[in-house]
Amino acid sequence: MKGRVLPEILLRTEELDRCVNCGLCRAVCPTFLTIGNERLTARGKIILLKELLDDSLEPSASIAEIFDDCLTCYACQSVCPAGVRTEKLWTSARQDLAGKSKTDRIKKLGLGWTIARPKLFGLQIRLAGRLTGFDVNNREQAALAKWGFPVFRSAPLLHSLNDEYPATGKEFGSVGLLLGCSVNISTPWVADATIKLLNAAGWRVVVAKEQVCCGAPAINNASWDIARKLARRNMIVFRSLGVDRVTSADATCAGAFQRDYPELFREDEEARMAAVELSEMTVDLSELLFEACEDGRLRFNPREEVVTLHDSCHVTHVSRGGRWRQLLERVEGLNIRELKDSDHCCGFGGSYAFFHRETSMKIAERKVERIIETGADKVLVGSPGCMLRIQSVLNAKTDRVVKVMHVAEFLSELV
Ligand code: SF4
Ligand code: SF4
Repeated sequence: MKGRVLPEILLRTEELDRCVNCGLCRAVCPTFLTIGNERLTARGKIILLKELLDDSLEPSASIAEIFDDCLTCYACQSVCPAGVRTEKLWTSARQDLAGKSKTDRIKKLGLGWTIARPKLFGLQIRLAGRLTGFDVNNREQAALAKWGFPVFRSAPLLHSLNDEYPATGKEFGSVGLLLGCSVNISTPWVADATIKLLNAAGWRVVVAKEQVCCGAPAINNASWDIARKLARRNMIVFRSLGVDRVTSADATCAGAFQRDYPELFREDEEARMAAVELSEMTVDLSELLFEACEDGRLRFNPREEVVTLHDSCHVTHVSRGGRWRQLLERVEGLNIRELKDSDHCCGFGGSYAFFHRETSMKIAERKVERIIETGADKVLVGSPGCMLRIQSVLNAKTDRVVKVMHVAEFLSELV
């Protein structure tokens, strides 16, 4: 009976059964640590899902809200000794409980009228750029925005980039650049830095002009039709580039190519094979740069400065680590101050910041307090979403000037 009502969760019973009830996920769950409701932890959610499957609970709005009140930071997945893949569970639960969720229709409507329609989305961004009037090339001005995303440049960056950027010295190979919406519309300087670093490492950078959103917001909200539509377009665009690798300064977007695309087409073998091919070509940016350092293709000039590093969730918990810290350790003279709970979420979480504003702000404020405690002048992060969130809360909550930079941006100044 429940198989018909909860088909996606039913496919994940293996994950549910792995949980050994140890409770280690409590210590890292930002929503639980802020609100204090055990049901918000991975353990609590798994118990709920089991109760739904064995008929002792009925799907309801309050249960759907438990799954909506999750940052999808996947710290629970990293810490879990039993290897429960919570990233599989939460999206499945969101899909099965969509009919009960109070915000699901609004989110899907929003996605349907933005990222799902790339041309219209481009027009919206242009209009938003004119209305908000931010000059996003001026980082201080851009950071004045109280919210993460409403910082728009007047036109998406993608159209002003060249088709290709040659390697600085001897060419090692070619790499397709997946911009990601945050970089394309809000933090274009991160793209410039990424291209400069990749060129310095011997990569010829090819810009796929027809690329669209990676679909991560749709995947997180279990809008599979929108996610598949975007994925199909990106699979055609990136596979036809003829490049050796694909990468992105946004680990969330690269992660969608790497892990989510093959999963999206699990029932369509031809599309799944194409998704696997793209997945295998896609490499985390920090990994690509680290390889170049190991090969002696990339070196950094010394820099005497005090910085700290926030380990963004999708680099740390989803992409399993990333290499940003090891890259920074190669910079002679750099004083990297340890940030307490550096791998705890900054509170952004995409649409979470809009629909759970109060909790999101509390989590972000704790992150900012920790950053101030380090005494560093700069905080480096590996995700454009975290950059916007942390900078806006820093500006609002403290007079101390702490600059937020993408790690790629910082390293690009040293080549
Ligand atoms: S993904 Fe993050 S917010 Fe959601 S249950 Fe896991 S640790 Fe908590
Ligand atoms: S850490 Fe893993 S095994 Fe332990 S309670 Fe959480 S989900 Fe279950």
